[in-house]
Amino acid sequence: MISATVEAQPSQSGEAGLRSLMTRGRWIEVARILFTGLVALLYWQQIVPIWLLWIAVAVGLYPLVKTGLIDLFTERKIGTEIFVTIATLVAVFGGETVAGAVLMVIILIAEFIADLNTDRARASIKALIGSVPQTAIVREDNIERVVPIADLVVGQIVLVRTGEKIPVDGVVVGGLASVNQAPITGESIPQDKADGSPVFAGTIVEAGALDIKTEKVGGDTIFSRIIALVENAEAEQAPVQKLADRVASWLIPVVFVFLIVVFLVTRDVSKIVTLLIFTSPAELGLATPIVMIAAIARAARSGILIKGGLYLEQLAKADAIVFDKTGTLTANKPAVVRIDSLDRTVPEPDILRLAASADRRSAHPLAKAVVEAAAREGLLVPEPDSYEQIQGRGVRATVESRVVLVGNPALLREHNVPIAFAVQSGGQTPVHVAVDGKFCGVLYIADTLRPGAGHAVAALKEHGIRRVVMLTGDNRASADAIANQLGIDEIQADLMPEDKVAVIADLQNRGFKVAMVGDGVNDAPALARADIGIAMGAAGTQAALEAADIALMTDDLGKIVGARNIARRAYRTVQENLWVGVGVVHVLGITAALMGWIGPIQAAFIHLGPDVAVFLNSVKLLRIKIEEA
Ligand code: ADP
Ligand code: MG
Repeated sequence: MISATVEAQPSQSGEAGLRSLMTRGRWIEVARILFTGLVALLYWQQIVPIWLLWIAVAVGLYPLVKTGLIDLFTERKIGTEIFVTIATLVAVFGGETVAGAVLMVIILIAEFIADLNTDRARASIKALIGSVPQTAIVREDNIERVVPIADLVVGQIVLVRTGEKIPVDGVVVGGLASVNQAPITGESIPQDKADGSPVFAGTIVEAGALDIKTEKVGGDTIFSRIIALVENAEAEQAPVQKLADRVASWLIPVVFVFLIVVFLVTRDVSKIVTLLIFTSPAELGLATPIVMIAAIARAARSGILIKGGLYLEQLAKADAIVFDKTGTLTANKPAVVRIDSLDRTVPEPDILRLAASADRRSAHPLAKAVVEAAAREGLLVPEPDSYEQIQGRGVRATVESRVVLVGNPALLREHNVPIAFAVQSGGQTPVHVAVDGKFCGVLYIADTLRPGAGHAVAALKEHGIRRVVMLTGDNRASADAIANQLGIDEIQADLMPEDKVAVIADLQNRGFKVAMVGDGVNDAPALARADIGIAMGAAGTQAALEAADIALMTDDLGKIVGARNIARRAYRTVQENLWVGVGVVHVLGITAALMGWIGPIQAAFIHLGPDVAVFLNSVKLLRIKIEEA
């Protein structure tokens, strides 16, 4: 199991040691296999009597019968265990005693290895993602001491030196360092950190040293959230998985009728035993989960968090992608480029000062540009007396007992502020400012495309996306200015958050499977409505991380292409597993058994083939290179 708690560092090789996997239960399993195998061998050599073989068969079958019955009664599902049990019993009572015992031993060995391998895959996923140190060096009253993570408190100052991992989420309060954030963001280029920079648990100080004020510890850190999400990802099953399970349960009665018919015709016990081995639909169930775990782990290593197999499959099948504009396609570095004063009673610096004050607490990318412009002018920006973010429109605040509105024309209209003329934006985003019910100024914000936006859109189209749509609450002129630089098929401007939902629903009604990419600001309902909601820059906002189905830990649009490619690879691998690993091998096996080319023991050996093939085909996803545009 992958654990969300902070644990000791696993081996760096990415592989978990075999010894740690050999639990008491596993040793008992080994003893059971050895005992059954040995007795079968001795009976075959006519050294021990038949009743001892029957005991050995009973000992060998015990765990199979147990899990088989538990599955049958709790999950109403007939697994391999039941098939192997029946095959063994048919062989033993039908006079093929040695074949039955050998077959059972081979299956036990196969199950044992498969089980061990799955655990190893999980363990190496955990090692790939990394870990957080168990202790931290805390400075208090100029004394430094080592404190276990569990005893750390928010607000304490933690020291981290070159080569060490940061143990907490927090903010830098001293020192300079270059930090490798790959465990969270997948970016290999280190980031420079200085006073005020946020830092994350699990990332590594490559050069320099930092004093960090602790903000989040243990299970609250982004890193722990990521581990917990990857762990839970197994629960959100992909539809193919459910389909495989359904087909498996539907196949079982068919298989039994088929076997009875074959027996009535041939009266050949050995043939029935052989057929039983190949008709077990168990790998159908195995074909997807390992792929999904491997793909999710691979994505996590690139800073792409996929919250379940379900979303991997949806993303692989998506054929329309919708981008929110502000903060997603743009907000590379939005900046106020011009200020128009419309009312002599409120001078230009005052417009900026009041707007910045109103926007101080907003997380909107444009709000940040306004606040930055005021800082650049050296204005003293007071804390607002009251503040309210109005979704998709802007903010309303009280500053120095004046009511300040900052946002789009709809905001002003809704507050009965007359707008004497339509603002000509020329591709920039006009932010309207009203003070005490009077429209008194416009801040023009120039926003540029994120680097790589064009490439990302082009790459998505190359990879099967048929329709790319851009949504925005901004005006049409600035929407067009941005969209014209990209290969966007459809532009929808002047939208309220609820209109964004309607656009998604409309695309869905037209038969598209829709992925929506946003930053979680003003677009959360649309993210929720889409078949897959993808949030960008989730390392910054916990809310986006929680709300989305897929969260990108950085603002890099290329990661969407990366996520799509991983999803498509995973989906293809599942199909390969199902058709080649399970379908073809079983059809060939059944044919060979019916033709009498192979007997039960060969069948048991051949049967290992698809198990191993499916496993290897799945875990190779862990190491694939992905194109990120
Ligand atoms: P987008 O759909 O492009 O992401 P939003 O729906 O987030 O845009 O915002 C729509 C419009 O509302 C913006 O273009 C801006 O004019 C206005 N707006 C929203 N929030 C704010 C804010 N905090 N400060 C200033 N303007 C805002
Ligand atoms: Mg937005």
